[in-house]
Amino acid sequence: MVPRLQEWIVRSIAAGAFAKRADVLRFAFTRSSATTLAAIALNFLVYELFDQIGLATAPTDPLGDAAVTASVAGPISFLAYYFVGRAILELAISRDTFERMSRTDPLTGLLNRRAFTEAIAALRVPYVIAVIDIDRFKLINDTHGHSAGDKVLVEVAQQLRLALGEEVVLARLGGEEFGVVMPDPGREEAISALERARSMLENHIFHVVGGELSVTLSAGLSRPGGELGYSMLLSDADRALYLAKAAGRNRVVHVDQLAVISPVVERMPQPLAG
Ligand code: GH3
Ligand code: MG
Ligand code: MG
Repeated sequence: MVPRLQEWIVRSIAAGAFAKRADVLRFAFTRSSATTLAAIALNFLVYELFDQIGLATAPTDPLGDAAVTASVAGPISFLAYYFVGRAILELAISRDTFERMSRTDPLTGLLNRRAFTEAIAALRVPYVIAVIDIDRFKLINDTHGHSAGDKVLVEVAQQLRLALGEEVVLARLGGEEFGVVMPDPGREEAISALERARSMLENHIFHVVGGELSVTLSAGLSRPGGELGYSMLLSDADRALYLAKAAGRNRVVHVDQLAVISPVVERMPQPLAG
């Protein structure tokens, strides 16, 4: 009985049957109406039974008797169902909050990595993945403190959303790394969207305690994914990002530029640190 009740509650919440107070009122009204009708029917049945065994006689005024039963059973069952409905609504709200929290990065408010992969799995059109990483971010923490670093992360998230628009899936994958999924763009369109973000960030002034600063980003862009799959595209974007960093940062690299840029980067003198 209890597992079936739990199952019913979970199913009702998932189906959105307890999403607002009006749902609770509807639930209480329909259930208490049914309960009241059942109480009236049961009342007559019990009288009939008692009559047959000689315990009591059936009421002479059945309508009046039904009205009395209804006026007792109706309000009591309505209240009982109303409180049950309210408890289920509270449960639905906290489940919703928990679900949202488990998909959101608390600092920036963007999707987190888990929600990012879920959003990709739900896509039914080809897409490209970009991985964006703030350049030399550790230096900001070291110079201005961790909370200045946090403020920069929040503003970078806002700048990225502004530059890339609402249609793209944007997530904080961890640390100072962001993931972007663009549904069905052409190669040039995807590159120019990222270039727009790169240039917007480069020109943005961050006001932190003790001064102003600016940051740059590097981004790696994957091939368009048809049958390629999420991990293949993410690895494309990661390899391209790695090259963007190695080539000097503050740039967008498409994975199909790897063959051209890699040999050049290999011949470049390597910096001594970071
Ligand atoms: P690169 O250009 O090669 O990406 O250098 P980087 O300094 O950006 O990269 P690195 O991986 O060396 O450092 C990343 C830093 O990000 C280290 C870590 O302390 C910091 N970080 C990660 N998460 C957070 C966060 O939530 N808040 C703050 N303030 N810092 C964070
Ligand atoms: Mg970085
Ligand atoms: Mg990083």
